[in-house]
Amino acid sequence: MQASAELVAFGQKHVAKGLNHLIEEVIQSGQGSYVTMSSGRRLLDFTCGIGVTNLGHCHPKVSQAAADQCLKMVHAQCSIAYHEPYLELINCLLPVMPSGLDSFFFWNSGAEAVEQAIKVARQATRRQNVIVMQGAYHGRTYGAMSMTRSKTIYTEASAPLMPGVFVTPFPYWHQAGFPPNVDEKTLVDHCLHQLKLVLSQQSAPSDTAAILIETVIGEGGYVPAPKSFLEGLRRVCDEHGIILIFDEVQCGFGRTGKYFALEWSGVKPDLMVFAKGIANGFPLSGIVGSKSLMDKMKPGTMGGTYAGNAVSCAAAIACAKVMQEENILQNVEARSQELFAALHKLKEDSALQISDVRGQGLMVAVEFGSELHSAADTPAASLKGVANKISTQCAENGLLILATSVFEVIRFIPPLNISKEELLVGMGIFEKVVRNVLS
Ligand code: PMP
Repeated sequence: MQASAELVAFGQKHVAKGLNHLIEEVIQSGQGSYVTMSSGRRLLDFTCGIGVTNLGHCHPKVSQAAADQCLKMVHAQCSIAYHEPYLELINCLLPVMPSGLDSFFFWNSGAEAVEQAIKVARQATRRQNVIVMQGAYHGRTYGAMSMTRSKTIYTEASAPLMPGVFVTPFPYWHQAGFPPNVDEKTLVDHCLHQLKLVLSQQSAPSDTAAILIETVIGEGGYVPAPKSFLEGLRRVCDEHGIILIFDEVQCGFGRTGKYFALEWSGVKPDLMVFAKGIANGFPLSGIVGSKSLMDKMKPGTMGGTYAGNAVSCAAAIACAKVMQEENILQNVEARSQELFAALHKLKEDSALQISDVRGQGLMVAVEFGSELHSAADTPAASLKGVANKISTQCAENGLLILATSVFEVIRFIPPLNISKEELLVGMGIFEKVVRNVLS
């Protein structure tokens, strides 16, 4: 095998530059909460491949289920016939889905599934417009990136985008221009008012097919949507016959300590989009809605060569079983409490300039500073770039962890079955690096 440095050099020469890397290294293997690089270096993984390997890398039961399916049937094309893993997966998911959402379509990636949900909403309502949240991330394909508002890098120099997309603020203090200690009611009232203005000034309700929201905004800064905001959206959608779509691509499948993040509010969407954690790394996504809504799509309007791949479905069935057998949600609750306690303790040290610790379960963020870092004359301007600096130094010290959003935010997405000891190790590295960067 080639030396690690040679492999990196090969990658730098032949892999498209548009693909950014957190570290210029090569991953060789992954086991549980750790990845091993071709240099032999082991890193604790608090990224889970961006919220995907929720059960740790190469969970033996998931990998075994995929391997077994590989020897049985790999490509049971979904437009040729039903296939067993597809149906069995639905059977596994039905008990954990919001009541009444029982008609499924599986895809490969989150972006495809988001776009599919928009297609359903448009066809069902015969309306064209979509309202999305400021700060949202829904993917990189043309339709999905047109509905993404977390960073301009995703759309820069790529116009024209999909038309008919309107934007309203998400109740995140920084995003909506409030200080970190703003009370939730003020924030939510402001955002619902802005939504009503969008509906009266920009996109008439009779032209609006859907409101699309991440139940916990992900790439935009790891902020759970407050219950009262989701309730407000539900009321507006019910009043005007608009389809409410929850994107649970990153926050679903136990990430927030509930099977789906929407359970924290009890608000039910008309359509839910899911992906990532469903199959622990095998490409699989999907949408679920009521049969009456989903059946508005005529036969032949849904499909895709690899959609609902049999190996991915087999892996997802194993994941659903492991979630139960290994009491994953209980572990999330216990580790979440420890993680929050450690981060709140760090926040007490004012030298570290932590303005916010937030999240649910093991989808947690720490924000540094409280001013828009683009305002060069504010004290927080000196914090510009700290989140990236922290994530780079963490990697050098043995911890993979990601920054997110246009603000100075670090996101914690460790495996849902991470042990207390592993969490402690990761927090030790994080604290050391934060003190080094900010003190
Ligand atoms: N929606 C959300 C909330 C996401 O976090 C992501 C991926 N980060 C996507 C959609 C897009 O998923 P994919 O990369 O699988 O297309």
